[in-house]
Amino acid sequence: MDALTEPEIRASFVNCSKGEARRLPVPRDLGAVPWADLDYLGWRDPQSPARGYLVVRRDGVAQGLVLRASDRTAGVGRRSMCSLCLTARTGGVSLLVAPRAGKAGQRGDSVGTYVCDDLQCSLYLRGRLSTGSVGMHETLPLEDRIARLEANVEAFVGRVLAA
Ligand SMILES: [Zn+2]
Repeated sequence: MDALTEPEIRASFVNCSKGEARRLPVPRDLGAVPWADLDYLGWRDPQSPARGYLVVRRDGVAQGLVLRASDRTAGVGRRSMCSLCLTARTGGVSLLVAPRAGKAGQRGDSVGTYVCDDLQCSLYLRGRLSTGSVGMHETLPLEDRIARLEANVEAFVGRVLAA
């Protein structure tokens, strides 16, 4: 993905207040982010570990989600699969919940999905990070798996935005 600036990231959040978007911790060293290998920028909040953030470009426009990790993991020691990158792994997949954008979110509606809980799907997919568990060998070419990840992230953001 094309690199994002801090103001772009702060302006991108669709499911939190402007005040929250101003205060949330954007990764400090955006210059060191391997943008070329990312389909979305994801990070966990070092101050509040249950919180995470995901920013993607949709049609060139940055859209970000504030996420909250639920207590529900996909099962300790059990094999599970990230619903975005479809990496199968033992541990490291958690239910992340995003408040819906707008009025629905204010009413408490949210959308959840099981995701690599460090939000580094792009790097697992490209083999730049190892899950530490024996992976399932996929015959699908990398570019197709990347397209699938992009489509899944897009669909997740779409569900958060859906009126
Ligand atoms: Zn993943």
